[in-house]
Amino acid sequence: MSDCLFCKIIAGEIPSSKVYEDDVCYAFNDIDPQAPTHFLVVPKAHIGSVSEITADNSAVVAHIFEVIAKLTKEQGLDSYRVVSNIGEQAGQSVFHLHFHVLSGRDMTWPPG
Ligand code: C5P
Repeated sequence: MSDCLFCKIIAGEIPSSKVYEDDVCYAFNDIDPQAPTHFLVVPKAHIGSVSEITADNSAVVAHIFEVIAKLTKEQGLDSYRVVSNIGEQAGQSVFHLHFHVLSGRDMTWPPG
C-alpha cells in the first residue's frame, strides 16, 4: 500500500532498526519504546489490523507468533507482553497489522 508507513519501512524507504526479517514478516525496534525491550513484528503483506484476519491470511499470524517465540527466546526474555491495538480508541495509530513485544519492566493490568 503506497501511503502506508509500515509498508514503507518494510520496503526500506523509511529507516528502521531491524531485529529480524524473513519472507513473511519484518521486526524492528519501536521508535518510541515503552519498555527496555519494545519491538514490533509486522506482516510484509499489507493487512490493516486484526479485524482483517481471515482464513485466507491467518497463516501469517501463526508465523508471526512463531517468530515472536523464537526472538524472545534468543533474547533471553522469559516474561513479556504481546499487544495489538485495533482501532483508534484502542490506541492504534498505524493501520498496518503489528504486534508489539514489550519486556524488561513491571507491567500493570488492566492496561490503560
Ligand atoms: O499500536 P500503534 O498503532 O499505536 O503502534 C504503532 C507504533 O509504531 C508506535 O508504538 C510507534 O512508536 C511505532 N512507530 C515506529 N516507527 C515509526 C512510526 C511509528 O516504531 N517510524
